[in-house]
Amino acid sequence: MTDALPETVMAALEDPFATPMPGTRKLHFEVVATGQLTPHMQRIELTAAELDDFAYQPGQDVMVLVAADGNRPVRRRYTIRHFDPARRLLTIDVVLHGEGPGERWVRSARPGDRIEGIGPRGKVFPSPAADWHLFMGDEAALPAILAMTESLPGDSEATLVLEVPEEADEQDYAAAARTRASYLHRLGRPAGDPALLVAEAGAVELPPGQGHAYLLGEARVVLAMREALAARGLPQDQMSPKAYWGRGRANAGHGEPARDG
Ligand SMILES: Cc1cc2nc3c(=O)[nH]c(=O)nc-3n(C[C@H](O)[C@H](O)[C@H](O)COP(=O)(O)OP(=O)(O)OC[C@H]3O[C@@H](n4cnc5c(N)ncnc54)[C@H](O)[C@@H]3O)c2cc1C
Repeated sequence: MTDALPETVMAALEDPFATPMPGTRKLHFEVVATGQLTPHMQRIELTAAELDDFAYQPGQDVMVLVAADGNRPVRRRYTIRHFDPARRLLTIDVVLHGEGPGERWVRSARPGDRIEGIGPRGKVFPSPAADWHLFMGDEAALPAILAMTESLPGDSEATLVLEVPEEADEQDYAAAARTRASYLHRLGRPAGDPALLVAEAGAVELPPGQGHAYLLGEARVVLAMREALAARGLPQDQMSPKAYWGRGRANAGHGEPARDG
């Protein structure tokens, strides 16, 4: 059993989240299970006493304290893929992309290991006003897109456009809604290259009625998808863009892409 951060390091942290924001709580997670889901995705099951009466919206995430940079906490955010209240089991799926403090924690995590979390976080979840939903994103967004899709009622309609490294990274999902999913395979192209998703944002069918687009993934790709859909007449208030990571640059200590530079 290993703590993500030793107690002495925890005690010395200058932590902006020492008191969690309203609507969130500290979660003293223990790893229950970990295993590879697809070639580039690791699934981790976590439990915590604080998961009793835990409530969240599909698409929301937890922020975990993966490392310290001197006395500054380094947190990373991962979407809640499943939650089983009876067993107090929360599942996250994490991309194996290469190198970073989040990636290092994920690769080394073993059952019994402990890590501090805060949640639920996040403001992107399915719009109840929408006649149709368009979900677009890369593999980091797969857990959010599949969790939101699976939560839609049976009379709703959703299009999913999902970029993954290769065919073996595709995942099944169980949705009541009418869905159409297309997977875009990078096949050796670097993650964060805008070509595939932005071309699809310019071409994907936008059905009649009021729709809502959820654009998730690499920061510049999200921005370019938003511009492509805006150019096709989709109003800004019918889009929920969210940058998950920035190509060539580590996320900031609060778990989102750094804004400067
Ligand atoms: C609200 C929210 C929800 C998220 N949900 C999930 C989720 O469910 N699953 C998930 O895997 N990620 C998710 N992310 C993204 C994840 O938090 C980032 O990818 C994060 O940067 C990973 O941290 P790290 O320490 O491994 O890498 P960092 O230290 O942040 O980055 C190190 C290097 O790796 C690169 N990098 C980082 N992420 C990726 C990536 N996905 N693909 C390719 N290169 C990358 C960076 O460009 C940098 O060069 C979410 C992010 C947000 C804001």
